[in-house]
Amino acid sequence: SLCENDRSSFCVHRQVRERLKKDVAQMKTQDPNFRPGLVVLQVGDRDDSNLYISMKLKAAAEVNNRMPDVIVPVSYIYQIVNGNSAIHGLIVQLPLDSIHKIDTEKVTNVVAPEKDVDGLTSINAGKLSRGDLGDCFIPCTPNGCMELIRQTGVSVAGKRAVVIGRSKIVGAPMHDLLLWNHATVTTCHSKTADLAAEVGRADILVVGIGKAEMVKGDWVKKGAVVIDCGINHIPDETRPSGKRVVGDVHYSSVKEQAGFITPVPGGVGPMTVAMLMQNTVLSAKRFLESHQPG
Ligand code: NDP
Repeated sequence: SLCENDRSSFCVHRQVRERLKKDVAQMKTQDPNFRPGLVVLQVGDRDDSNLYISMKLKAAAEVNNRMPDVIVPVSYIYQIVNGNSAIHGLIVQLPLDSIHKIDTEKVTNVVAPEKDVDGLTSINAGKLSRGDLGDCFIPCTPNGCMELIRQTGVSVAGKRAVVIGRSKIVGAPMHDLLLWNHATVTTCHSKTADLAAEVGRADILVVGIGKAEMVKGDWVKKGAVVIDCGINHIPDETRPSGKRVVGDVHYSSVKEQAGFITPVPGGVGPMTVAMLMQNTVLSAKRFLESHQPG
């Protein structure tokens, strides 16, 4: 049932973190001082970015990553990080919040592809779109969605998958991942003519729109796997904060139709953080392998 799945989706990210802890312990047997190193570059001081970064730092500490405690000027960071063998991952927390106009694409593309653990450089995105999945970093939110889909036990090959959204961080890489896992994929966006009809054909539906509770129960095919990436704040006077977080999917009505559904909060969000740790540990592993003596 759905509730059982809710619970399991809650647990998957914990399983991932436990596995990563073991991986890091294993790396330490080669070199006791070795730790995967991750740097987060933030421009500005947005409350949401601060919250997301604090969750990433907490997860990194748990997985025993090395965290930097210095803030370096943007102009220096790439030289310092790209060439620093103690740092295996660099992510640029988006959006960049500055009074100056900053070209986000340019900034994310200065990250060395082999340290691009968010998978946002053109090199990694290109590899993913061509199906070179073993040779790139897969963006964390779609990677987490795939992990949640795998956990349902539903096989992806041959299924009809629908993705709503085509952003560089969620929708577009999700499309690629589903495609190369052999689903037949339709990607919808703001110009899609009949969104409800497209959604109705989905065996697997992944939603990343940024519109609170937009996808309704009567759009969804009976038994579909529904993965909700949305994080939206809506007013709620019963809460001390005066607001609460909901997804892009109208949970209570879609739950009646879906075979599996991820909750918000607690579904895709924690998996995204877990996948960032996974990519960082993977990068560190690749580094160790390429620097092995002999
Ligand atoms: P963007 O705003 O970059 O992209 C939204 C996409 O949805 C666009 O492709 C847009 O189409 C499409 N869209 C907008 N309105 C409609 C509509 N009415 N009908 C159909 N499609 C529409 O958002 P993101 O991809 O960055 O994020 C999507 C959601 O995922 C947000 O709720 C965000 O908070 C959440 N998110 C969650 C993360 C997590 O860790 N769980 C990480 C990142 C994001 P078009 O291209 O035509 O404009």
